[in-house]
Amino acid sequence: MKLTIIGTGYVGLVTGTCFAEMGHHVTCLDINQEKIDTLKQGQIPIYEPGLEEIVKRNVSDGRLQFTSDYAEAVKDALVCFLAVPTPEGEDGSADLKYVLQASRQVAEHMQDYTVIVDKSTVPVGTARQVKTVISEELEKRSANIEFDVVSNPEFLKEGNAVADFMKPDRVVIGVDNVRVGALMKELYAPFMLNHERLIIMDIFSAEMTKYASNAMLATRISFMNDLSHICETVGADINKVRLGMGSDRRIGNLFLYPGIGYGGSCFPKDVKALCKTAKKNGHSLSILEAVDNVNNEQKKLLGNKIISYYADKGGLEDKTIALWGLSFKPETDDIREAPALVLIEQLRAEGATVRLFDPVSMDNVKRSIANHDNIEWCNDEMEAAENSDAIALVTEWRRFRFPDYTALLNSMKGNAFFDGRNQHEPLDMAGRGFDYISIGRRDVYADTKQKGLAII
Ligand code: NAD
Repeated sequence: MKLTIIGTGYVGLVTGTCFAEMGHHVTCLDINQEKIDTLKQGQIPIYEPGLEEIVKRNVSDGRLQFTSDYAEAVKDALVCFLAVPTPEGEDGSADLKYVLQASRQVAEHMQDYTVIVDKSTVPVGTARQVKTVISEELEKRSANIEFDVVSNPEFLKEGNAVADFMKPDRVVIGVDNVRVGALMKELYAPFMLNHERLIIMDIFSAEMTKYASNAMLATRISFMNDLSHICETVGADINKVRLGMGSDRRIGNLFLYPGIGYGGSCFPKDVKALCKTAKKNGHSLSILEAVDNVNNEQKKLLGNKIISYYADKGGLEDKTIALWGLSFKPETDDIREAPALVLIEQLRAEGATVRLFDPVSMDNVKRSIANHDNIEWCNDEMEAAENSDAIALVTEWRRFRFPDYTALLNSMKGNAFFDGRNQHEPLDMAGRGFDYISIGRRDVYADTKQKGLAII
């Protein structure tokens, strides 16, 4: 089938590439000319494990191409996917301007029956709006062309996007007629050889399924984060609680990791957008409002712990803190809504200098921060730690799990280790000479033994 993907970002590029890998002929379109030029030169504008190799193979096999020209991209396409941003609008609802603009441009150029597929995360009712916009444009052209609008929300995870797309847990398709349902089934057939995971439903339910899924995942994270505070106070260890509760099959052990809040381009905006949809329809999703509030507070937690640790040590004015990891999660260069950005500003506001390192997102962070005062950019985690008073582990990249602890401590000025992702064992870290502070567990200092704390 001939497909066009509109918007060549994290979702669009992966979607287009994976469809090409399965034998479809794909054109990826973007209005960002720089991005298209980069792709045409054989480079990948984002970091996503495994993607580069498949892009190159499919380009050289002639099944994948890139353009910024709508006329060229749309004229022969049977299916046009919309994978454009749906950022948070001023009032918290999803801003649909990119979706509607792209729909309009598709309508200006389509020549024959076309299926327009919403892959962007969009509120219930958006497919109906897309349909209206396309009908209006076709009417302006006096063009009598048949079309269908389908909802096909995307569930891939950045950092594992190719594997998620190639072997999805499920593919949700929202349609309003049988014919287009059959066409979507044929399109996804190469992904379903192992077993059928296509779930066909009405459009409203498909649109809602995406928000419901992200809201549930965000809820699990905020639930654990909220619980971590009370664990700390009463002397329980949230990691042990997690293991105990997660082994119940009704609960499961995924998405129960306490930390310093969820970020990224999806959970924060999708939780807010769903709350807004509910409000517009006369309901209040109070659980989700709490999820959002807990998350906003949690993003400040590591900074608050650092500030309080130094409160009786002269404050942060002359202190240097190394940040390990900046992206909102490992295996991606995406820093949208990343907790690291909150922490950097909190520490600088207190007068600290920050030494930053992330394996892949350094350039994105440099671009996103206007004022670079009190920031030192480092080439690796050990360099960041040099002469630092403390380390703050912000993103749980695997390489931060087992550093050379002795070399680390020798190169630092101080010995504090703030672990925002509970990657290390408290007593083990104390035994190695660190003042170790983590999330939802008792703080343990290097002089633990002298203080006579029990070792469990
Ligand atoms: P992105 O910002 O990485 O990419 C979007 C691309 O669309 C950009 O390159 C932009 O230049 C382009 N664009 C904007 N307007 C355009 C237009 N009129 N015509 C052509 N191109 C245009 O965004 P993303 O992270 O890929 O997200 C896209 C959508 O998918 C959003 O709705 C998001 O919520 C949803 N989603 C994202 C993820 C994820 O992990 N990133 C997962 C599932 C769903």
